[in-house]
Amino acid sequence: MRPKKEEIARAAAALRAGRLVVMPTETVYGLAASALNARALGRVFAAKGRPADNPLIVHVGSKAELARVAASVPALARKLVRAFWPGPLTVVVPAAPSLPRAVTAGLATVAVRMPAHPVALALIRAAGVPVAAPSANRSGRPSPTTVAHARGDLGCAVAVYLDGGPAEHGLESTVVDCTGPRPVVLRPGAITVEQIQRVCGDLAIGTRGADAPRSPGMKYRHYAPSARVWVIEGRATEARAGVQRTLGRLAAADRRAGVIAIGDERYAGAEVFRVPTLAALGRELYAIFREADARGLEDLVVRAVPERGLGRALMNRMRKAAER
Ligand code: AMP
Ligand code: MG
Repeated sequence: MRPKKEEIARAAAALRAGRLVVMPTETVYGLAASALNARALGRVFAAKGRPADNPLIVHVGSKAELARVAASVPALARKLVRAFWPGPLTVVVPAAPSLPRAVTAGLATVAVRMPAHPVALALIRAAGVPVAAPSANRSGRPSPTTVAHARGDLGCAVAVYLDGGPAEHGLESTVVDCTGPRPVVLRPGAITVEQIQRVCGDLAIGTRGADAPRSPGMKYRHYAPSARVWVIEGRATEARAGVQRTLGRLAAADRRAGVIAIGDERYAGAEVFRVPTLAALGRELYAIFREADARGLEDLVVRAVPERGLGRALMNRMRKAAER
């Protein structure tokens, strides 16, 4: 499963030459390019069909490397880095002025993370440059959690695909703005709000307010399959009954529906995607989205999960997928 040393060396050379590499990370697969090469960054946006005003996360190979891409490292960022790197936590800090505009989309800040996946770390270190890497999907599609998903979306736009097995978390990193007096969680992820609170105390949760979004990517529809997603709100029992009612309505309308069943939940009248736990739902959600489309399902129904811990990230992704 693990790519060999020579394969990583070939991918690192491709990055240095301004070409694109798909790399496994513990969150989702990333589409990597040298963060110092404006032409390579242009290829990332072209390959994904990504809007130019959506900035990229810079992936570094060590904690010390943060200072190379930041103009300054706020104490708050330092604290979070110490607690959670390497891992699925992205800090937003003042950007080094030398960074190409494509990385920051013209913002004064840059988003940076040190991934925990050994293949990603080996690649970044071998390349010797910081690596900008959005998720390796076409813009608007679910993020890839296997190398096959990425290949299906990006094909020959990518020089080297590195296979590191299925992604451990399956959801994108937690993004935290560290430029103010207290941390602002711009995007929930595998590192939970509760974990961040334990390290930093007081924090704020960013919302999509009327002001310019703090995290520009938040304004785009994301993570969505072609099938229509229905998230049935309510507490467990109530939501389960709501799921079954929705399936009944869809069946009456002659629609081909799928349903995500969590744990031992039983539903009738739809194709069932079963996940044992919420952590498994995190790992499987995007693969289920893709599989629903592959099977030509028109609707995909899932119940709401409690908005604490990983549940916050899950509800964020599922609600976004349900937006029309
Ligand atoms: P993706 O790479 O598709 O997972 O998206 C990266 C996320 O990080 C998006 O939501 C971006 O808007 C966000 N992001 C990247 N750079 C910044 C920044 N400088 N300030 C705030 N959010 C950022
Ligand atoms: Mg993405």
